[in-house]
Amino acid sequence: MSTLKADTAESVWNECLEIIRDNINYQKYKSWFEPIKPIKLEGHRLTIQVPSQFWYEWLEQYYYGLLRNTIKRILGAEAELEYSVVLEKGSDNYDERSVKLPQQQSGPSTNEPQTLNSSPQYQPGNIQNAFVIPGIKKTKVESNLNSNYVFERFIEGDCNRLARSAAMAIAENPGTNSFNPFFVYGGVGLGKTHLIQSIGNKIKADCGDEKSVLYISSESFTNEFVHAIRNNRASEFSMFYRSIDVLIVDDIQFFSGKEKTQEEFFHIFNKLHQDGKQIVLSSDRAPKDVPDIEERLISRFNWGLSADLQVPEYETRFAILERKASDNGIEFDHEIFEFIAHNFKTSVRELEGAIIKLLATASLQRIDRLELSHAKNILKDMIKENKAQISIDTIQDHVCDYFGIEANKVREKTRKQEIVEARQIAMYLAKQMTKSSLKTIGLHFGGRDHSTVIHAITTIEERLETSPKHKQIVNDIRHQIELASI
Ligand code: ADP
Ligand code: MG
Repeated sequence: MSTLKADTAESVWNECLEIIRDNINYQKYKSWFEPIKPIKLEGHRLTIQVPSQFWYEWLEQYYYGLLRNTIKRILGAEAELEYSVVLEKGSDNYDERSVKLPQQQSGPSTNEPQTLNSSPQYQPGNIQNAFVIPGIKKTKVESNLNSNYVFERFIEGDCNRLARSAAMAIAENPGTNSFNPFFVYGGVGLGKTHLIQSIGNKIKADCGDEKSVLYISSESFTNEFVHAIRNNRASEFSMFYRSIDVLIVDDIQFFSGKEKTQEEFFHIFNKLHQDGKQIVLSSDRAPKDVPDIEERLISRFNWGLSADLQVPEYETRFAILERKASDNGIEFDHEIFEFIAHNFKTSVRELEGAIIKLLATASLQRIDRLELSHAKNILKDMIKENKAQISIDTIQDHVCDYFGIEANKVREKTRKQEIVEARQIAMYLAKQMTKSSLKTIGLHFGGRDHSTVIHAITTIEERLETSPKHKQIVNDIRHQIELASI
């Protein structure tokens, strides 16, 4: 492999990254794009290496347009992007162990069959190589770990103390502790992924290649398994997973109802456990509450230690905010942290979202030091989203109140003109301000069907375009509803 070429691939990819970073949320950027490695540039074709098949599919599914436009901006209209999926890292020769994949969707030159043919033993579309074929020599496993998820960045608080200290103990003595498996559970955005990856990262840092660590979401595990079966590689899949020293499986609730996958996982689990290998699992709920999981698996989940992550208390929220800001090299007034900590209470991810939004806005507007009032203004929409959902009933009440009619009237069948109008406005606002479907909205208005709701919405939309007076009325009502729900 020529280093010169690698350098060029790198510089092209770095330029791409700059564009990508500006176009998606930072966390997504970090998770999906930072781990990608540029490996080759040949003419207008850039080859990037992604950590797994699942990764490739994810990129193609969610970031196809972005990647395509970006690469064209940097390499011109004939640009092509080729993926190389990691089979085995640490090898000198990529080509033997990686598979080149074409871009799936149409594009003038990327779908050409010769690209598909570059790995004749696989069928396009169901290529599965995120697992390593056990080779002659001991394989080096791509861990799939995000290097940011380390203990040093995981703020301790009452909400996570037990889980964190157990995780630390496991990382210090993987396999040979009584926390096997270690089962972490808790709601979205509370730090499960961060914590379980911290275990993997610490083991990697302490033991290097001595211990193979693998982090995988249960979704990727399932997908890989399905692909493996399809390609008659189920036994390789099985052997690979049974050879891991520290297996970390995230969000195992995704195994619900997937009997075959559960069975496979059951056998892998048994083998690893028996061999004193460490198993770390996470889920959005306690083992016993995960639906549609075989009893024998649940009972194994309970063999070790389960620890939950709770919603962080005020002090921890404050500490997390301080830390996130300083990690980003930004100083905020304490008042701002207080404000965020008071208003974003349900998850750490939300806190991060708030900080990221402030950072982004401050840097866009070139503000060196943010004032509280400004921060409040920047975050006001997010806070609103956080507030209790606005209900259709609330909207009906406000509309009726505005027109001075009885609250129940819009739910009845009456065709009196003033009521019809109020009802149409209420339907329109219900569509705009709630996540309800047309059907649900119809049901709230005396069981009308969805075509009536559509008719109401289009009527109001037309009126808003032609009549400033109507626009004013609708805006006033909307404003009142918003104020009442803050
Ligand atoms: P989950 O997997 O439970 O949905 P994540 O692990 O993805 O949650 O956490 C969401 C975000 O919050 C991540 O960016 C993570 O780094 C951060 N985070 C969660 N808990 C903490 C903590 N205790 N200290 C610092 N950051 C945290
Ligand atoms: Mg997670």
